[in-house]
Amino acid sequence: MTLDALIQTYFDTGTLPDLPRDHFIDGQFIAPQAGAYMDSFDPATGTAFGDFAAGTAADVDAAVSSAARGLAVWRDTPPAQRCAILNNVARLMRAEADLLAVVETLDSGKTLAEAQGDVASSARLFEYYAGAADKLDGRSVNLGNDNAAFTIREPVGITAHIIPWNYPTSTLVRGIAPALAAGCSAVVKPAETTPFTALLIADLLVRAGLPAGVVNVVTGTGAEAGAPLVTDPRVRHVTFTGSVATGVHVMQAVAPNVTGLTLELGGKSPLVAFADADPEAVADGALWAIFSNAGQICTAGSRLVIHRDLHDQVLDKLVAKARALRIGHGLRGPDMGAVNSPQHLNSIAAHVDRARDRGVDILCGGKPACDPETGKGWFFEPTILGGLSPDDDAVIQEIFGPVLAVQKFATEEEALLLANGTEFALAAGVYTSDISTAIRMARRIDAGQVTVNDYWAGGIELPFGGNRKSGFGREKGLEGLDAYTRPKAITLAV
Ligand code: NAD
Repeated sequence: MTLDALIQTYFDTGTLPDLPRDHFIDGQFIAPQAGAYMDSFDPATGTAFGDFAAGTAADVDAAVSSAARGLAVWRDTPPAQRCAILNNVARLMRAEADLLAVVETLDSGKTLAEAQGDVASSARLFEYYAGAADKLDGRSVNLGNDNAAFTIREPVGITAHIIPWNYPTSTLVRGIAPALAAGCSAVVKPAETTPFTALLIADLLVRAGLPAGVVNVVTGTGAEAGAPLVTDPRVRHVTFTGSVATGVHVMQAVAPNVTGLTLELGGKSPLVAFADADPEAVADGALWAIFSNAGQICTAGSRLVIHRDLHDQVLDKLVAKARALRIGHGLRGPDMGAVNSPQHLNSIAAHVDRARDRGVDILCGGKPACDPETGKGWFFEPTILGGLSPDDDAVIQEIFGPVLAVQKFATEEEALLLANGTEFALAAGVYTSDISTAIRMARRIDAGQVTVNDYWAGGIELPFGGNRKSGFGREKGLEGLDAYTRPKAITLAV
């Protein structure tokens, strides 16, 4: 179906034909052993448009057994063949991009343009790691004439991938693409509100030539399906992306099995704007740093740390731009889509209500909203909070919605203190026309990635991850392969 036909079909029928609803295990869709299903809702209407399997420990056990069989085949598949299959995946993903993007829009509430960007970068991830699959070489080491010594890079084994709901496609692919390039197999547990793209991609992988069992998907809740997956002793690495609270819980849960772990957790990232920055560029940068994906991005620039001389000028522009954003159903091309669930909407609203009760200035927005065309859905107005002290809850807690906290500074030292003033250390932006200020700040801000004069600069080729409570380990870039390979040293007496 064409993109237009998919969208029309959804608006005519309230669903899409042939949505998968069962787990994907051993190369096929398999019904849940307990027989239970859960509804999936379109956040922009609040209405169910499909259902999916509510997985339990028995389904996880079957998926991990399948991954063990898949691993036996895949780790011995010649690297050049792994490379060819992953390139096929990228091609097929581009061919099926319209379906994936429409499904992702319906599942998550984001705009179609955001979903299309996510699918495009995911196809690039497969291509990028396809290119690495046949270059995972070891090295030879000189121990003197009595030995020949060398290293090989082995796949770690079965990997588990726990996925959140904000970027279900790219978060999944940035984990499984390097794992597959390395020769690992995988079991994926998507978030309970966004299961469908993982199921579609698992099926696509097999159609692209991946042997059955190498990638398996079990849907369901964190407690019923996620917990048994991360604690299965056959799993040798867990890549978890989600909240700090669940990440800490997973870290404790995997400890008895001494399972490897990558934690991609929350953020409260600052965008630091100096007095010499271009005010228009700062206003545009801050607008999209916080309102892209309705603020539901771990790396969202959720704090604007701004020099007092630039503050009024930028805030006038920024508030006007925020008020002009059009919210609406993601398939109708708005500037900003819905938030993912009613529970999450309530959590955002509660943060803002508490800020209002504390006397915080609400410069714009501040309330839940709905799709102006239908009066339905779970939306929150683009919101800017001003006059905040460094220890205000709106400054130190991740709200994970379209809510920007503004902080003023007078000196570079103060800007640095504010930028590093939360428990998170994921991303940061610096706006200045002075290259020395830019480099000093980039070196001294505690974060996994710092961008200068363009908040979303970067790509899949760069390592991505956080410090402190934002987690540890790196995904994307060549560094993204490290979690899925381990070196083995081999020596031969001569
Ligand atoms: P969450 O922690 O509630 O859930 C994440 C995933 O963990 C879901 O699939 C859930 O089912 C699963 N889960 C829950 N309990 C589990 C358990 N006991 N064992 C195993 N799995 C379990 O997070 P969320 O609300 O889906 O996502 C939002 C959070 O994710 C935000 O804090 C955001 O910053 C963070 N995030 C981080 C990154 C990053 O790369 N650093 C990217 C996206 C989102």
